Amino acid sequence: MKTFCGRANPTTGALEWLEEDEDYDYHQEIARSRYADMLHDKDRNTKYYQGIRAAVSRVKERGEKAIVLDIGTGTGLLSMMAASAGADFCYAVEVFRPMANAAVKIVEKNGFHDKIKVINKHSTEVTVGPDGDMQCRANILVTELFDTELIGEGALPTYEHAHKYLVQEGCEAVPHRATVYVQLVESQRMWSWNKLFPVRVEAEDGEKVIVSPSEMENCPGVPSVCDIQLNQMPSSDFSILSDVVTMFSVDFSKPVKSASTYYRVQLEAVKSGKAQIVLSWWDIDMDPSGMINCTMAPYWVKSTSAFQWRDHWMQCVYFLPKEEPVLQGEKVHLTACRDEYSVWYNLQKARGEEENKADVRIESPVCRCQAHLLWNRPRFGELNDQNRTRQYIKSLMKVLKTDSVCLCISDGSLLPVLAHYLGAKQVQYFILFFKANNLEDKIKIIEARPELLMSSHLEDKKISVLVGEPYFTTSLLPWHNLYFWYARTAVTSHLTSSVTVLPQSASLHMMIVEFQDLWRIRSPCGTCEGFDVQTMDDMIKNSLNFRESKEAEPHPLWEYPCKSLSDPQEVLTFDFRKSVPQHCLSTEGSVNLVRKGKSHGAVLWMEYHLVADISVNTGLMQISNEKGNCEWNPHCKQAVYFFSSVIESETLTDLPTAVTYAMNFNTKTGEIAMNFKL
Ligand code: SAH
Repeated sequence: MKTFCGRANPTTGALEWLEEDEDYDYHQEIARSRYADMLHDKDRNTKYYQGIRAAVSRVKERGEKAIVLDIGTGTGLLSMMAASAGADFCYAVEVFRPMANAAVKIVEKNGFHDKIKVINKHSTEVTVGPDGDMQCRANILVTELFDTELIGEGALPTYEHAHKYLVQEGCEAVPHRATVYVQLVESQRMWSWNKLFPVRVEAEDGEKVIVSPSEMENCPGVPSVCDIQLNQMPSSDFSILSDVVTMFSVDFSKPVKSASTYYRVQLEAVKSGKAQIVLSWWDIDMDPSGMINCTMAPYWVKSTSAFQWRDHWMQCVYFLPKEEPVLQGEKVHLTACRDEYSVWYNLQKARGEEENKADVRIESPVCRCQAHLLWNRPRFGELNDQNRTRQYIKSLMKVLKTDSVCLCISDGSLLPVLAHYLGAKQVQYFILFFKANNLEDKIKIIEARPELLMSSHLEDKKISVLVGEPYFTTSLLPWHNLYFWYARTAVTSHLTSSVTVLPQSASLHMMIVEFQDLWRIRSPCGTCEGFDVQTMDDMIKNSLNFRESKEAEPHPLWEYPCKSLSDPQEVLTFDFRKSVPQHCLSTEGSVNLVRKGKSHGAVLWMEYHLVADISVNTGLMQISNEKGNCEWNPHCKQAVYFFSSVIESETLTDLPTAVTYAMNFNTKTGEIAMNFKL
């Protein structure tokens, strides 16, 4: 069956109808899923296996049959471990149909079909009894339902239900317990993802400061988790204010309550500073003794050198509602509130216990200042990047005149305010900021799509300066911001003949890289802990071939180290001074590999040429050493095109070879098709 889905094209802005296969969502989910990453997570897999073996032995030692319930079986991996460890029977529950089907095949292929029953249901729908899905309640509960925040994938309600209806009292659980840890830090870098810092503008008539609205000062922000590869955050970017403390833990072998609650700990500041951020991660003990421990602790906490890279579990950054100065030795109370699916934090100075209790805000944070709804965390970081702002200011100063009529096309941009301070007579945009800076009558917001812009919107004036960062919230891949070009084309009739367009052009850049770790998310697994999971590899490959493999995907590469194997190369340019052409823009060429290594893929990014000699780069900042280690723009996602076979490039001899490429920007669809040959 085919279905039609309507969407606004992220690049062209056109509303279009896409014919989608019924299975498109499935393929999308499988292709982009983290199953491969989990199967590559050796640390996780071996510890689950140890924990499962120990649990089966404990049950057997009691003289009982070992009946396992595996909730969220995925590939069936944990059930196969249990069966191999001597479990008498396993019920493997999986809600996602394509995965349940895969589990059936994998279980069969590994010869466990008489020991493992795959049940394609959500665990809360599973029935127990002679005619039920399960003959009897299980005495071993195995799950892997955790996300970076531990509870974000619904582990708590699932456990709550399982203990009530699906497992015996006193059951064994693998993992046995999870513990959430926190550490209080000050970090200008991370805080810049949550608050807008004052922006200084050196104008002709003195310094102007763009201030953030007072609502933002105390705004608790949004509850969505900020999960990052904290191990890529250099220690110079934050300052530790407290020891690592246990915030809360959950014993999975006992009944679990999912209802909202809070936990509170007392911390003593180990250093004076501004408490801004709570860093958090968890570990799981696979057995009651705590001997088999799998931890997400970051590099400065973990003592072992055995480091496991993983992308399915990272670390969390929580922003306190407002920064709080603390003095070394001072005692503060940190409160973690949680509902069924998410966690948020509050900090109180130590006072009377009663007074503090009354102070605990249990409700989930709701953004009051609107900025947290408009800007995501990287966008806050980008707007706070003083260096970047300076490039825009310098460029605006070059193009603006006192009689400029300026139109800004970008989402949630500060450019109109900058343009106003730098002298433009009339500019258009973001209500809240205008109020805070008394600019409501100076900057006009036009609530119309570019193609519907009318002379009356502009009070019959023609636009002499058209500006954009460009940045649009709908952009996923770097070139989606070319929407600016399409909008510019749509407003052409409103531009003066000598209009200045800023940025005047953009260019797409490309480089071949070897990833330190990110390759794992695309790499087949073959066998996992001795079990044949090739069916899963084939399934992912099939889903990728469905469409995804021909497309690049966005990744914030500052979190995913890689080294460059080729020099960066400019591959396409887009001239914003002219309208979008009718014809496609294509290019072909080759890049020389300048370093040995595995060519995992190509990275692509955009550079915007604001004026002739000032550019902002959203990708590669620099290659920092002769090994080719790359530094990426920390606020932007870059596009990664994974090559379908890495093996070919592994056979590279010492002689550097070249990679040929062909790119085609289809100006009708706004899509960039690319092809690489090693
Ligand atoms: N157990 C596998 C896969 C873990 S991923 C492994 O460790 O490798 C978690 C899986 O649980 C996903 O496939 C998801 O679809 C499934 N899932 C999550 N909650 C579930 C629930 N309550 N009932 C059934 N399946 C669930």
